[in-house]
Amino acid sequence: MKLDFDVVVVGAGVAGMTAAIYLKRGNANVCIAEKGTPGGLINLSSDIENYPGIKKTAGVDLAFSMYEQVMSLNIPFRSTEIKEIKSLEDKKVLVTTDGEITCQSIILCMGRGPIKLELDNVDRLTGRGISYCAVCDGALYKDKDVCVVGGGNSALEESLYLANLCRKVYIIHRRDVLRGEKMLVSKIKEKDNIEVIYNAQIIKFNEENDRLSSIDIDEEGSIRNIVVSGCFTFIGYKPANELVKNFDILDEKGYIIVDKGMQTNIKGIYAAGDIVYKDAFQIVTAASDGALAAISCMRSLK
Ligand code: NAP
Repeated sequence: MKLDFDVVVVGAGVAGMTAAIYLKRGNANVCIAEKGTPGGLINLSSDIENYPGIKKTAGVDLAFSMYEQVMSLNIPFRSTEIKEIKSLEDKKVLVTTDGEITCQSIILCMGRGPIKLELDNVDRLTGRGISYCAVCDGALYKDKDVCVVGGGNSALEESLYLANLCRKVYIIHRRDVLRGEKMLVSKIKEKDNIEVIYNAQIIKFNEENDRLSSIDIDEEGSIRNIVVSGCFTFIGYKPANELVKNFDILDEKGYIIVDKGMQTNIKGIYAAGDIVYKDAFQIVTAASDGALAAISCMRSLK
């Protein structure tokens, strides 16, 4: 079957779903393609308390509610991976895992993925003690001791979530001050079962029976062993730019460069959300990017 659309949105995170909603309401023939779960990174957030109009919600609930809105507008949702953008001419060709799609414009909303610690057995222990999602895996560590790596908003929010489930949460932070919001830092200090270890880095993951059993940390030059069953790493994210890594549209950090209307230097190719570098990577900024990209894309549709 030959699929042809005005616009294909790649990625169904907050930016992608917002762009698709705006495009459809503007009467564009739009399709959204996603290789994973709709919602992207917000699925990994426990509590969201800074999205206007919603006092508090779980990331998965907000993601699902956006997905329901996309479905209610009858926007074609293709569960597929875009492997290649084959032609950049007026008619663009996308190669997917199940066939080709043609379109006039593309909005790239692939977002970002977690950065991993560069230690020997990280990949092997992922899913066997090492995790990047407290909401998904936290319950596996109920009443156990775990550690969280990082001192940003993600690490702090997820530590608070884990502290309600686990016996003890160690936050391993490489500096002497947490970089997350003040409100989160105060909540962390109020929790009896969270211990922040400053000026420390994990230097080794120890394992027993193919699972994480403890960590060795370097704390201001002294080596200390801490027994933990789980390690949740929140040390930042990197742009998921694999699809466009050969195009001349990336900055030195791998984020996509766009103009005021979210268009790249290739006509008809736009980008929105966390794949575009910004000062604040927030749900509202992703939604704003998506809306802006859709509006400027609609203006240029023939
Ligand atoms: P982040 O703000 O970049 O923080 C990453 C943390 O990991 C920092 O504390 C950093 O240490 C540490 N780190 C980096 N590389 C490391 C390494 N190799 N070893 C050990 N530690 C390392 O990342 P994030 O917390 O995921 O947040 C990403 C963005 O999303 C931010 O803009 C954040 O504000 C936003 N966000 C917002 C909310 C919210 O508004 N509620 C929630 C989550 C995320 P240093 O401090 O020394 O650099």
